[in-house]
Order: sequence, then C-alpha cells, then structure tokens
Amino acid sequence: MKRAIFPGTFDPFTIGHYSIVQRGLSLFDEIIIGIGVNPAKKTLFSIEKRVQIIQQAFENDLRVKIQSYDSLTVDFALLVNAGFVLRGLRSVGDFEYERTIADTNRKLTGVETVILFTESEYSFISSTVARDLISYGKDISSFLPPNVTL
Ligand code: ADP
Repeated sequence: MKRAIFPGTFDPFTIGHYSIVQRGLSLFDEIIIGIGVNPAKKTLFSIEKRVQIIQQAFENDLRVKIQSYDSLTVDFALLVNAGFVLRGLRSVGDFEYERTIADTNRKLTGVETVILFTESEYSFISSTVARDLISYGKDISSFLPPNVTL
C-alpha cells in the first residue's frame, strides 16, 4: 500500500490543494491530508473549520484521510507509516524552499517527496490571497474545491 501525506496549513484548503490531491490519487493508494498546527501561528480558520472544509471536498472518498499534527512534518509521516510527502509547486518561488525541505527529510528518514506542478489555471491561487479577499468581504467560492461552502 503506497501511502503519502499532503501536509500544509490549509488556511483555507483551496481548489489548488484539491487538484494536487486528486492527481496524487493516481500515484498513491491513500493520501493523508496533514493539517500542521503551530500554536504560535495565528490562522483565520479554526482547526475544526479547516477539517470541515476538507471533509466536504472529499466526501465519500475513502482513500483520503484528514489528520492534524503538531510535530515535525517528517515525524508525522513516520507516525502514520507514509513513505512519501506530496507537495505542489506553483512557481520558482516555491522551488528552493521545497528542495531544502525535501532533501532534509530524505536525509533524516528516507521519506521521499513527490512534487506535482500545479495546473496553470490554479497557479495563482493561494490561501494568503483567499484570506485577503475574505478580509475585504469578497466571495472566494471560485478559490474553493467543488462542493465546499464556508
Ligand atoms: P504551507 O504552510 O506548507 O505553505 P500551504 O497550505 O500553503 O502550506 O500549502 C500546502 C501545499 O500545497 C504546498 O505544497 C503548496 O506548494 C501547495 N499549494 C498551495 N497552493 C497551491 C495551488 N494553488 N496549487 C497547487 N498547489 C498548491
């Protein structure tokens, strides 16, 4: 059984994240979406709300699990017996950061990182912009996965 984690803050989970997980399901038997919780980092959406959004997006898909964690990401991967970390890459801006983390994780534990390039139609979508739009009272439904309402 090939199992991957898809870690992130997901504040909120967007259609860009959704697309990466959907595509990842052609590579892995199971994907655990890991919501990283850092008590020092303030988020707009509560952990309960972030879980609820992801549940709505993947309703009925038993291959997708959701779990929060407050450890090092790679320790979470080991904890849930996942051999892979799935990540999405939007731009060169993401590249150096992802490479550093991926190399560190592999060196520490042998856990491999699998990176999928974002579909170009979603490459401008980010949780940060979604939160900014919300703060100005804008509707962000086009940023969210299908079937998700806030
Ligand atoms: P983090 O706090 O780790 O940056 P995010 O919630 O922002 O977490 O993102 C989690 C993962 O999703 C990262 O691999 C990120 O590159 C990827 N991602 C973010 N936005 C998009 C998008 N629009 N399309 C594809 N992947 C994305």
